[in-house]
Amino acid sequence: MTTMPSSSLAPRSSASQAPPIATTREACQALDATDPLAPLRAQFAIPEGLIYLDGNSLGVLPVATPARVAQVVQHEWGQGLIRSWNDAGWMALAQRTGDKIARLVGAGPGELVVADSTSVNLFKVLSAALSIARADDPARRVIVSEPGNFPTDLYIAESLAAQHGCTLELVPAEGLPARLARGADVALLTLTHVNYKSGRIHDMATLTQAAHAAGALTVWDLAHSAGAVPVDLHGAQADFAVGCGYKYLNGGPGAPAFVWAHPRHVERFWQPLAGWIGHAAPFEFTPGYRPAPGITRYQCGTPPILSLAALECGVDTVLAAEPLGGMAALRAKSLALTRLFAERVEARCAGHGLSVVSPREDVLRGSQVCLARAEGAYAIVQALIARGVIGDFRAPDVLRFGFTPLYIGWTDTWDAAEHLAQVMATGQWREDAFQQRRAVT
Ligand SMILES: *Cc1c(COP(=O)(O)O)cnc(C)c1O
Repeated sequence: MTTMPSSSLAPRSSASQAPPIATTREACQALDATDPLAPLRAQFAIPEGLIYLDGNSLGVLPVATPARVAQVVQHEWGQGLIRSWNDAGWMALAQRTGDKIARLVGAGPGELVVADSTSVNLFKVLSAALSIARADDPARRVIVSEPGNFPTDLYIAESLAAQHGCTLELVPAEGLPARLARGADVALLTLTHVNYKSGRIHDMATLTQAAHAAGALTVWDLAHSAGAVPVDLHGAQADFAVGCGYKYLNGGPGAPAFVWAHPRHVERFWQPLAGWIGHAAPFEFTPGYRPAPGITRYQCGTPPILSLAALECGVDTVLAAEPLGGMAALRAKSLALTRLFAERVEARCAGHGLSVVSPREDVLRGSQVCLARAEGAYAIVQALIARGVIGDFRAPDVLRFGFTPLYIGWTDTWDAAEHLAQVMATGQWREDAFQQRRAVT
């Protein structure tokens, strides 16, 4: 069983006393018809009949992406060849796309760059942050995180800690303020802002303040935040952040990730992967490393131009919401969709052993709903996929459904819960075909 806090399907808490979002499918259709964000869906090439609730794992293909990538391949690469590094702006693409992502996470222009993967960026910023924290006080030897953090985040932190004679200490979320209050030995606090499995949001500003009061720095992973929930890195006084390009930013499989450093830190240290693209003057080909000014030093090697072009198209789909209210409007719709889904699951699946394990309180819930079931969670997700409702399974017992308000509506949400109800009521999930565990869940 999962160790996450779970709420049973019985009515509970003030959150569930709010009036229902919609109690009929017709009401959902009416909400879709008047949704000011509905036109944003036309930006996406979603296969007919599919209800895609996995944009938190791999965002859908924007309509603009194939033509843009074809243009980069055929024209910029095919015709322009090496000249395109200058003529087609390839050298500036990581910064240009970074500036666009910055608008979604409360960072300023020139502060955020696209590079490498989330895992590699974590290594870079954890290393820089550790060096800064320990330069100020070498006695600080502890990196604090939580046991439910995403595994790569923990593995990277653990290996970095080992290299520096430090330790990684995992503290359950409720215990973090108390641990930081006696944090004279703590160098860093590193957390994923929205937990990938439970969907629970950490209070970035409060935890950052507690870390700073202890003399520690913070490193935030925005993999499930950027493009999903409003983030205010400056408002929270955060120190470093990384995030993912292929989830809510719709950058495509393996899209490059991003990295941000607060301007107060960015030039205090350079990152450990001192590659030539992070050098102040790469084309001087000098033997010694001189880090570039600003966030550019967090690049390492040659940027992946085809992937970057696709990522820029994906980021543009989120920015297209700016004239319609931006992240605040997306957030309001996302909260309504996730609450509707939890309500419908409660209404239609009671007695089938499913519990809602993502927070019911809006301020604590990211853009996903997670259900847990002791038995059959994987098979239930497979049965839903066979019906054209795509969610995913996270071991050992979680069914995870991501709601991307750019392209998911109220009727989709209603229908997804109906499919789940049918999978449970008919016992369809028990069929042999749904039991075989594949490599990617
Ligand atoms: C998706 C995700 C990652 C992915 O890291 P990669 O380097 O792209 O494989 C890392 N951390 C968190 C919290 C994630 O959700």
